[in-house]
Amino acid sequence: MPTILPVLHQPQLPLERLILRDPPGPDAIDMDVVIVGAGPAGLACAIELARLAKQDREADAGVSELNIAVLEKAGSLGEHSLSGAVVNPRAFQELFPDRTLEDFPFRQPVEAEAVYLLTERRAQRIPTPPTMHNKGYYTASLCEIVRWLGERAEESGINLFAGFPVDALLVQGNAVRGLRTTPSGLDRERKPTADFAEPTDLTAKITVIAEGTRGLLSQAYREWQKIGSPNPQLFALGVKEVWQTKVPLDRVIHTLGWPLPGDAFGGSFMYPLGPDQVALGLVVGLDYHDAGLDVHELLQRMKLHPLFRPYLEGGQLLEWGAKTIPEGGYYSLPERRYGEGILLAGDTVGLVDVPSLKGIHYAMQSGMYAARAAFAALKAGDASAGALAGYDRLVDESYIAADLHRTRNMRLAFKDGFFIGGAKAGLMTLTGGRFPGGRIDMPSDASVPRTPGPSAPFVSDNILTFSKVDAVFKSGNATRDSIPSHLLVGKDIPAEVAEFYTHVCPAGVYERVGDDLRVNAPNCVDCKATDVVGPRWTPREGGSGPKYRLM
Ligand SMILES: Cc1cc2nc3c(=O)[nH]c(=O)nc-3n(C[C@H](O)[C@H](O)[C@H](O)COP(=O)(O)OP(=O)(O)OC[C@H]3O[C@@H](n4cnc5c(N)ncnc54)[C@H](O)[C@@H]3O)c2cc1C
Ligand code: SF4
Repeated sequence: MPTILPVLHQPQLPLERLILRDPPGPDAIDMDVVIVGAGPAGLACAIELARLAKQDREADAGVSELNIAVLEKAGSLGEHSLSGAVVNPRAFQELFPDRTLEDFPFRQPVEAEAVYLLTERRAQRIPTPPTMHNKGYYTASLCEIVRWLGERAEESGINLFAGFPVDALLVQGNAVRGLRTTPSGLDRERKPTADFAEPTDLTAKITVIAEGTRGLLSQAYREWQKIGSPNPQLFALGVKEVWQTKVPLDRVIHTLGWPLPGDAFGGSFMYPLGPDQVALGLVVGLDYHDAGLDVHELLQRMKLHPLFRPYLEGGQLLEWGAKTIPEGGYYSLPERRYGEGILLAGDTVGLVDVPSLKGIHYAMQSGMYAARAAFAALKAGDASAGALAGYDRLVDESYIAADLHRTRNMRLAFKDGFFIGGAKAGLMTLTGGRFPGGRIDMPSDASVPRTPGPSAPFVSDNILTFSKVDAVFKSGNATRDSIPSHLLVGKDIPAEVAEFYTHVCPAGVYERVGDDLRVNAPNCVDCKATDVVGPRWTPREGGSGPKYRLM
């Protein structure tokens, strides 16, 4: 069978729909700063901005009041948030200097940790690589973190609009002037129903894009403004479950090796979330070669391994979810993360250190830097690119850039497979990132050829292992069945490419029926994996998608 080149079947980004030159509608709401995305980056940005404005007001230094809005596509805050998570608390401490560690929404401190190399039946403990040390950090649920940050944002007088996905940027010349939300109440043919609500326009002096991984608006903005990066952004897909357990887990666990094939990059995690809950997940780089690789199914198989099974047996699956991670690191950062009237923060620009699997504190820190740059620009009455460029300097001179630079080639080394990559990554650690020198060139994930082949069917037992349909139920997804499809699929998709999509999507959105592709769009949990290597994702009616509580 011929190999599949995913990029050949992927539709273009619908730029004409995402970058609008229309003037804002007559009922447009005017703000000083509007933030897209209520994740750690967007909420930290909003809270820091409100703090700066309050400080200024109290010092009688010019700023009287700032109108700040945060728009979030999830029906309520945290419902689209998913992470591991082990959290480095340093950004929390900087954002809330008057609070103690006990105040933060963490589950428990990391007391012990272990890394294992797995084969199908065995787990060999290996020394913890320096990048994976988590002493002094805390396990947490990102949903809980986001809900807590949301409460702090509300206390600061910030306008939080949950259930309002942003559909497009409103621009004038080269400047971003605001945004337009997605309409709701359309039927499958995009005709208004009795519940139709028009899009809302918001105008702002500064728009901060903090829309997370594989952000659609940032992709559009960068394509429009031709903002490149040395390497393309690379992505991994993480599929995660939270379990109620009878056996307490006493350590943070990471694994390498099985069930991944030797030419795939990734690993698993299992974190304690208190005495009777664990989070476990599998993360796999989307540049794998086997077109039949299915991350959801691999996670199901993995749970039966003697390392995991004893913890899960007699327990109960509480929640399931999936999300991509930008893992290109330093060389995938955009050449600039600001423009006329716009700043980009967090995962949407790729501020994740993959060797340590950390992004939350980088997202929050970049949000705070965006707030400081935006505040200085507002005070100067100048939101031009020149005035906002200070944001890049803040990020570049901070620990964010230093950490990403130190591990700059580690993920890229795994392009040559797990064992060669592992050896190279070890040398990189020893030399503080100086080996092998220069930059390892990477193709985009969609440009990596895939080999179709037979894949062993997996039958779930509904006790420890679950089908995609049952998993989506456990994500709380209750998207209205009759909304228009938000997925843009290429034309005349060959059967083997349709088959590839069925494996990429952890939520069973794509089905191969004979030689045709069937799309069950309401199942989508917004993980964005197929946006990377297949059909494009676009925003849909507010409140659609998963309703995570524990992820
Ligand atoms: C499986 C997995 C494990 C991870 N483990 C860890 C870990 O252990 N420790 C760690 O520090 N980091 C970890 N990370 C990374 C970390 O979760 C991210 O770096 C972090 O969440 C990024 O924050 P953010 O605010 O930039 O984006 P997000 O948290 O993704 O927030 C973006 C928000 O924007 C919203 N949004 C998107 N598009 C729109 C739109 N058009 N309109 C309105 N709203 C929109 C989304 O719904 C979301 O709420 C992990 C990630 C994954 C997927
Ligand atoms: S269709 Fe939705 S759930 Fe499936 S891979 Fe794409 S974004 Fe993820």
